[in-house]
Amino acid sequence: MENLKISSSSSGERLNQYFSLLSSNALWKETLEELFLVSRDDFIFDNLVVYQTDSETGSLEVLFAKSTGRGKSAEADASWGESLANRVIHENRMINEEPSEKDQHDRIAHPYLLGLPINTEEKLPGVLIFIRFGGPAFSKEDCRYAQWTANLTTSIVRKKLLDEFMSKIENIQSMTKLQADFISTISHELRSPLGFIKGYTTTLLRTDTNWDRETQKDFLEIIERETNNLTDLIEDLLDSSRLQSGQMKFDFHLVRIDSLIRDEVNRVHLTNPEQKIELDFDPEIPAIEGDPRKLAQVFDNLLSNARKYAPDALLVIKLRKEKKYLTIDFADVGPGIPTIYQPRIFTRFFRVPEQSMKAHGTGLGLFICKQIIENHEGTINVSSSQSGTNFKIALPYAMVTKKITAEESV
Ligand code: ATP
Ligand code: MG
Repeated sequence: MENLKISSSSSGERLNQYFSLLSSNALWKETLEELFLVSRDDFIFDNLVVYQTDSETGSLEVLFAKSTGRGKSAEADASWGESLANRVIHENRMINEEPSEKDQHDRIAHPYLLGLPINTEEKLPGVLIFIRFGGPAFSKEDCRYAQWTANLTTSIVRKKLLDEFMSKIENIQSMTKLQADFISTISHELRSPLGFIKGYTTTLLRTDTNWDRETQKDFLEIIERETNNLTDLIEDLLDSSRLQSGQMKFDFHLVRIDSLIRDEVNRVHLTNPEQKIELDFDPEIPAIEGDPRKLAQVFDNLLSNARKYAPDALLVIKLRKEKKYLTIDFADVGPGIPTIYQPRIFTRFFRVPEQSMKAHGTGLGLFICKQIIENHEGTINVSSSQSGTNFKIALPYAMVTKKITAEESV
């Protein structure tokens, strides 16, 4: 706003400064504030109110109000101009209204009002009201200045409406893009297991070939695996929408995080014995409050991400007992996540473009992890470079909002 400050009163320079207000990038409120500060040098008023017609209710709303000293606060003074504002809207012209009694002893009771239409759009008219308590009356010269100020106000309000409109369009654009990404990811993720299931079922059903029992078993195992993938995908979709709408139910118990991670790692080893995982746990890990199934889901996604995006690289899982938190690090020495993508990594459906061809996924996993951890009043963050990726989780020992007993411990 510094560049908007008006210091000189020479009319040429003032004109220049008025125009610089219009090209200002400042917020509309600051620009209006500055405009009325400048215009006070040209003509005096006690209060002013800018009204705008609410597009939904059609009623007049106070967009901006300013009190310059005499009289009450700007908020309270907004009511002074209301009935004149309605007349200005109705007649769509400048109205100069003087009090019927001109008792100079009670200035506040005798406001001189000047109302001017600000026609931002036909459907959204506004009004600018200037108030002088106890006079003097607005002269012809004042009216000219007021009209000039109203024109500038119109431009500023129009810019505000345009900015709001642009941000709505940007929101719609990003929603549309998200929807398009969603449809393309989901159709790809649905098509690929369905393709396997269909292909192997058709093969098994062929009457011209006799498959030996071993081969039949292999095919059926593939069908089973792909059916499980489909079930997981649908579960992830349901979870993510439940988490987003706050409808996911959590079942809190006292949980041993060390045992939970060990169980998940053992489970992973059964299906992927080649994944290199090292555990580095503090000896004394206290139980914490948590939902064991949801937390297992978090660890499962981090284990599967390391397998998919840092294949053959060692994954070290570190569990530490800090003062108020348990911290868990999932650190791999894989290729890492490029810095530009790191801020988006926990967003629904986001996948690093270069990696998305290498492994299956929907980009829901980390979004779900973050929501689950935050429902435990914890945090999850990523740090990554070309020498590896670290997901750091911090979980509080006891959540303030929940009280559970040791008997509930699992
Ligand atoms: P889903 O988990 O839903 O099956 P996904 O694994 O693609 O799919 P996320 O778990 O949300 O989705 O991960 C988002 C993206 O983050 C991944 O697509 C991948 O590009 C990147 N990513 C996650 N973990 C790692 C990692 N350890 N190393 C490198 N990139 C990773
Ligand atoms: Mg994942």
